[in-house]
Amino acid sequence: MKGPVKTYMSGDPVSISPGASALEAFEAMLDRGIRHLPVIDGSGHVVGVLSIDDVRAALPYPVSLRQPLAPTQRDAALELRVGEIMTHDPETLGEDATLAEAAECMAARRIGCVPIVDEHGELAGLLSETDVLWAVATAGGAHRSANAPPGALESLVAELTRERERVRARLARRLAEEQSLEAQTREEPMDQAERGADVTLVAESIALDELAVKRLAALDQALDRAARGELTVCARCNGPIAIPRLRALPGATTCIACARAQALRCAPCAVAPATAQSRALLAARRSARSSASHLGSLS
Ligand SMILES: [Zn+2]
Repeated sequence: MKGPVKTYMSGDPVSISPGASALEAFEAMLDRGIRHLPVIDGSGHVVGVLSIDDVRAALPYPVSLRQPLAPTQRDAALELRVGEIMTHDPETLGEDATLAEAAECMAARRIGCVPIVDEHGELAGLLSETDVLWAVATAGGAHRSANAPPGALESLVAELTRERERVRARLARRLAEEQSLEAQTREEPMDQAERGADVTLVAESIALDELAVKRLAALDQALDRAARGELTVCARCNGPIAIPRLRALPGATTCIACARAQALRCAPCAVAPATAQSRALLAARRSARSSASHLGSLS
């Protein structure tokens, strides 16, 4: 691990002003999939650091970097200023500090990131725990240029591909189960007690299957977009879609800023079309349900 921290830091980090609202800060974190924001004053000097843990600790409800705040939660977050909840006058390091110095500073003070400043004391970059770990992982190797670690997109696509295989296999298994159950029910109707005991379990697994069908459609869509090289490109503004957003919502075709603008303007957008497999499962279920209700009306 040779070289100064400026080799490993994320340059040109997203920053925020102390007078901004906690909502603005949270949305910047959500949008970029980052956990820390340097806070700078009007002259570019670092006056604070805000972490997602600070936001979490300050807001009177659970906050996750995987989903936007509900409309009712936004009000509370709008009232809080970044300057009220950030760590003031944080430890900073110069661009020529070594990685070892940075790691020691972070460990000794139990902090997750250090703002890196230039010779004028202005923000030059941000070094996070993840940056340090990447430096160790690539030991003296590649220079990092973007916010995304090397191979982040490739590993997302590999992850989504594996998930698609698992969901497909599960749905195929469920389809087979439903079909055999349907045949069975036709041959030997269940008695009242058996049916009662089954109802809760069936309702639960139907709900899960429906979610799995939706997830599969989203995964299909994501992998199609990845094959065309469009996965991380927002369909509305051509800006980047953050990797964590795609991990949570593979079917997302817009960045979070566009998604929010759209949500304010119109009703929920159309759901991705179902695949042939999911259509078959839904059809099997409908027919199983109608034979069940037919049996029910006989008893
Ligand atoms: Zn966009």
